[in-house]
Parts: sequence; C-alpha cells; structure tokens
Amino acid sequence: MGEEPAASPGAATPRAALLRARLPGACARGEFEVEYQPICDLRSGRALGFEALLRWRDAGALVPPDEFIPLAEESGDIAALSDWMVARACRDLAALGAACGVSLNVSSGQLVEPGFAARFVERLRAAGVDPARVSVEVTESVLIREPGQAIAALAHLRGAGVRVAIDDFGTGFSSLAYLRELPCDVVKVDRSFVAGATQDGVSQAILEAIAQIGRRIGVAVLAEGVETQDQRDWLAQAGFALGQGYLFGRPAPADHWSGRSADAAIASGPAAE
Ligand code: C2E
Ligand code: CA
Ligand code: CA
Repeated sequence: MGEEPAASPGAATPRAALLRARLPGACARGEFEVEYQPICDLRSGRALGFEALLRWRDAGALVPPDEFIPLAEESGDIAALSDWMVARACRDLAALGAACGVSLNVSSGQLVEPGFAARFVERLRAAGVDPARVSVEVTESVLIREPGQAIAALAHLRGAGVRVAIDDFGTGFSSLAYLRELPCDVVKVDRSFVAGATQDGVSQAILEAIAQIGRRIGVAVLAEGVETQDQRDWLAQAGFALGQGYLFGRPAPADHWSGRSADAAIASGPAAE
C-alpha cells in the first residue's frame, strides 16, 4: 500500500468512503438543513437563544453530524458549509424571535484557519445581524492543535461582541485550566454529568463545583441534556442559570419555533425555588 493520509477514526470504512464521495456537492444540491434547539432560562423555561445543529439528508436518510463533520473537516468542505450555515442562521434569526440569540458550533480546525474570526464577523455584519446575538461553541480541543491561534481567534470574536461558549465541558481532555486559558462567556456542562444530577453523588458534586466556579468567575453555566423535570429542579437549586435538552425541546426547523420564543415559556411548570 502507498502512503496513507492521517485518517480519522472510521474513515477507512466503506460507509465513510461513500459519504466522503458524496459530500463535496451536497451543499449545492440543497441536501443540508439546519435545526434549532432552544437554550432556556432554567427557572422560567423561556427560550433565550437557539443552538443551530446541522443536518445532512443524503439520499433521503439523515446522516448524523458526528459522522459527516469529521469528514467535511478532513476534505476542507467544512469552510463552505460553515459559510452557508452562518448565512442560513442569520436569515432564520428573524423567525426565531426578535430578542433571541443563535449559537453556532465551530470545530477546532475551522477556528484556527487564518482569517476565520474576521470573516465570521464580516458575514454577520453583511447579513445585518448584531454580533451580540451570536455565540460560537467550541470544545477544549481547540487548545490542543494551535492554542495561540485559537485564543487569538476567540479574543477577536469577543472583541466584536460575539459570545463564546465552551461546549461539552468536563469530557474529553478538558481540564479546569481551560477556564483560565480560554476566553469565554458560557460553560456548557456535558450531558453525561446532567444524567447523574438526580442520582449520582459524584456527578452532583461536580455539577455543584462547576456552578460555583461559574459564579465566582462571572461565566454563565448551562446544563446540556436536561430531560426530566427532576433534573431541571435539581440544577436550578444547584445554581445553573441555563438549560438545554429534550425537556425544553428537541432540535426542529426554525419555523417550528417562530412565535414560541422570548415571551413564552417552552417548558411549563415552575422549577424549584
Ligand atoms: P453538541 O454541540 O454537543 O450538540 C448537542 C447534541 O446533543 C445534539 O446532537 C442534540 O440533538 C443532542 N441533544 C440535545 N438535547 C439532548 C437531550 O436532552 N438528550 C440527548 N440524549 N441528546 C440531546 P446532534 O444534533 O446529533 O449533534 C451532534 C454533534 O455534532 C454536536 O454536539 C456538535 O458537536 C456537532 N455539530 C452539529 N452541528 C454542527 C455544526 O454546524 N458545526 C460543527 N462544527 N459541529 C456540529
Ligand atoms: Ca454545541
Ligand atoms: Ca455539547
């Protein structure tokens, strides 16, 4: 065999090869869609913003983003996809509600591309969207490859008013040191901890500690994967301000949410005081 490129896990499977072959024209063929999941005030249930989640309908079947995004990064298609996504989210903001924000996932490869932050801000301005309504979500993996460039890009985005969220906090290689090194406004605690919020003492201790750190350093804490009212109540009393998960709503197209945000609680029932 000749020289193999550095492959992502699973890239050599027949399915990955098939998806890789189909990916380049997929955006032009209109096969991508964006769904939005509400980010809610944990106590009131009001939607404060929405996370944009990419969907690829390939030959009628949905391909999970966890599967195609690594391939798009590898091929370089992610740049065009991301431009398309930003334009789409800017357009959809009108349907999502005048007061709402939108959160966009940015992969570590994208963030450190030269000029990424400037182009991102420029696209928001060109679409007439106030950068303060937009957040980018990055994982701690952005610090692994080129930490200096990643931190500079995040500082550029924040300087323009874009908010920065650390995604999946507590998993992977994340460590508390990232809270010191990554300029951020929100910490999104991974749903694996939230799943233990009402039963597992270790997860509870971790959640309480993160909530306390957030309060002390002035960073909002968001619980991901909130599925039950009991979890919501426990998280609210532990000091979490924000929540996201099936309890509040599954990801859905923008028009599903129009008229339901800002002034309407998405999940009814008071959270514990
Ligand atoms: P993520 O950023 O952590 O997004 C949250 C994932 O959790 C979404 O899966 C969402 O549907 C799912 N989820 C939300 N609430 C619940 C819940 O209550 N319970 C459970 N079990 N799951 C919940 P999805 O849409 O399959 O996305 C998977 C990942 O793909 C995302 O994880 C993100 O890392 C990536 N992704 C999605 N869209 C984009 C994109 O536009 N750009 C980039 N770079 N990555 C994206
Ligand atoms: Ca995310
Ligand atoms: Ca996440």
